[in-house]
Amino acid sequence: MKIRDILRQETGVAFEFFPPKNEASELSLFEHLKVLEGIDPAYVSVTYGAGGSSRANTSRIVRRIAEEEKLTVMAHLTCVGHTRAEIETIVAEYHESGIENIMALRGDTPRGTNINPADGELPHAIDLVRLIRKIYGDGFSIGIAAFPEKHLESPDWDCEISRFKEKVDAGVDFAVTQMYFDNEFFYRYIERARKAGIAIPIIPGIMPLTNYKQIETFNTLSGAVMPKELIGAVEKAAGDEQAVYKIGVDFAVRQCLDLIAHGHKFLHFFTLNKSNASLDIYNAIRSSLQ
Ligand SMILES: Cc1cc2nc3c(=O)[nH]c(=O)nc-3n(C[C@H](O)[C@H](O)[C@H](O)COP(=O)(O)OP(=O)(O)OC[C@H]3O[C@@H](n4cnc5c(N)ncnc54)[C@H](O)[C@@H]3O)c2cc1C
Repeated sequence: MKIRDILRQETGVAFEFFPPKNEASELSLFEHLKVLEGIDPAYVSVTYGAGGSSRANTSRIVRRIAEEEKLTVMAHLTCVGHTRAEIETIVAEYHESGIENIMALRGDTPRGTNINPADGELPHAIDLVRLIRKIYGDGFSIGIAAFPEKHLESPDWDCEISRFKEKVDAGVDFAVTQMYFDNEFFYRYIERARKAGIAIPIIPGIMPLTNYKQIETFNTLSGAVMPKELIGAVEKAAGDEQAVYKIGVDFAVRQCLDLIAHGHKFLHFFTLNKSNASLDIYNAIRSSLQ
């Protein structure tokens, strides 16, 4: 099923995974997926390692989910480091396999490297969106990334929102946000987007913080501002894994309930392949989603 059709419903939850690196983690992923089937998520998605060795794994896992599970699946695809011809082949394979949803992204080059001009045929996510729409028309539902705290490379908000609008005008159906921890960023982002005439659904991306080390990792990855309240509580509980987990999950539950109270009833969870935290959050908020 196409995600743009699913998004006509008022509520829903989605779960993002990365492609497992070995047989044991693949087994564990498919066990998690079986559990998720029970709660009927709007969709699950599988990330794509821009420039990494896991790229072929994404399409294999996406196909396996589509064949074996009763779940709508979305394949992430990044254009950085790929030639146009390579991207055309990957998208054609998805089309032939009946995969209907693609998250069109640029991706990031490995730290310290620049985009090789030889690979520059599709330098930005918008080029990937245009390519898919040109070849397949409405054959895919296309999602893109959105950045409530502004993309790290965007010089200012005008640029951020006008790039976002250009992508949407190229034929995007919905957007999922980068992780963030303060809903005020999201609400202001929605305001800016709607003011610019962007009408597509923008789904908040929720990342539960479940261990101490993630404070630094998340900040380096996305530049997300961590609320002092959360950092303080996690630092105080450092060393007690269960306590840190509970603090992170409780924080995410409050974040989700606030989103729901503001009318945002579609949520996308970054699971890091451990869906326990996302499921604990879901169980705490499910009655509010009805
Ligand atoms: C929900 C979600 C899922 C993600 N999944 C993955 C994944 O699976 N694999 C992965 O590697 N990464 C993933 N990312 C990370 C993403 O690839 C990076 O954040 C990347 O830096 C930006 O990607 P983009 O698609 O927004 O790129 P773009 O739209 O190309 O934007 C990147 C920067 O370039 C600017 N820009 C955009 N268009 C133009 C243009 N035409 N000319 C000049 N500048 C322009 C933008 O303003 C922005 O600053 C994900 C991010 C999110 C939020």
